[in-house]
Amino acid sequence: MKIRLASPLTRDSIVDGPGLRTVLWTQGCIHHCKGCHNPNTHPLDGGFETSTEEIIETLKTIKLQKGITFSGGDPFMQPEACTEIARFCHTLPWDVWVYTGYTYENILKENNPLWNEFLNEIDVLVDGPFILEKRDLTLSFRGSSNQRIIDVNLSKKNNKIVFWEQ
Ligand code: SF4
Repeated sequence: MKIRLASPLTRDSIVDGPGLRTVLWTQGCIHHCKGCHNPNTHPLDGGFETSTEEIIETLKTIKLQKGITFSGGDPFMQPEACTEIARFCHTLPWDVWVYTGYTYENILKENNPLWNEFLNEIDVLVDGPFILEKRDLTLSFRGSSNQRIIDVNLSKKNNKIVFWEQ
């Protein structure tokens, strides 16, 4: 399956979630947050095209990672391809973190089958737009205080938002 990326995979990141992580930089974002650090990731036709098969072959060669983090751009712009990659990562087994400009409530309300399928493969969702006025450099794994680090599995189980705890 085709997918557009903004940059090649980053290995061994320690700033995009807990532990050593591989980061997938998806291309395309419609949120246009003021102060976004990655405006080059916004055009839906920007970046470069590759395939989920190629990414999975590369992931098979990467060792000692705790998980994968989908960033961007907004991974929810390409839910089918991201679902396929996330599903493979769970077999490694790696955990799956996803950054999105949508809120968790937005995603549930939309009830888009492709988004729901992607959400089923997400362990932790860092949600909501970056808000410049709420920027806080002391926060771990998020840029502004409105963004939440949500334990998706526990939130589904409890039918209310449960924050991830380290
Ligand atoms: S959601 Fe993320 S990538 Fe998109 S504009 Fe906001 S900060 Fe930038």
